[in-house]
Amino acid sequence: MNKFVLESDAPGVTRVEVHLKRSAQAKRLSLRVSQLDGRVTLTLPHHASEAEATGFIREKATWLRSHVARFDAEKPVGLGSLLPLEDQMIRILPGQGRRPRLVAEGLEVPGRPEAAGARVAAFLKEAARDRLTAASDHYAALLGRPFTSLSLRDTRSRWGSCSSKGALMYSWRLVMAPPDILRYVAAHEVAHLAEMNHSAAFWARVQELYGPYRSAREWLRHHGAELHKYRFAG
Ligand SMILES: [Zn+2]
Repeated sequence: MNKFVLESDAPGVTRVEVHLKRSAQAKRLSLRVSQLDGRVTLTLPHHASEAEATGFIREKATWLRSHVARFDAEKPVGLGSLLPLEDQMIRILPGQGRRPRLVAEGLEVPGRPEAAGARVAAFLKEAARDRLTAASDHYAALLGRPFTSLSLRDTRSRWGSCSSKGALMYSWRLVMAPPDILRYVAAHEVAHLAEMNHSAAFWARVQELYGPYRSAREWLRHHGAELHKYRFAG
């Protein structure tokens, strides 16, 4: 058994999937809910039985359901909220001056509190443009084919695209994902400058440009939807 499911037993009760992880170091059972995506992991010592594991999960069911429910909801972004940025969770804080500023404690956002969400979105778009331009330039140089333009959108259906004219489009929400994931999407779209399909030849290009890409694709499949839950409207 590597997964246990707490089914929803009433309307409004959150279904919870618990991933089991055996660990030689673990001395006791411990539950963890990821701050990034709400994924639940139960770490258990090698000697623990499945009955112990399921008993432990049932005992913690109420706590688990309430923690996981929070991750299913939309997340409005404003002062005080947490946001993923590259590999970290950052706190949105009130700030001074003219522009949002990254500091050790989080992202300081000046101006009216009601406008903080919109200003955070503008900050993320600018950061996304920098990172995606740098990554696209890098892979286009490796491939030896230039792209004609680069634009950002907020699309739910795709993380990026490449037109037959060589125009690249990306979702700016990629800046919230780990940097490797953003680079994978850039390598993928740039590879389309050479191969306008998803043939074996295309995937060979992605491998040449980016290296092993399977885990990045998996990450997007499992965690991508999380990035769309953040709401920035001012
Ligand atoms: Zn593609």
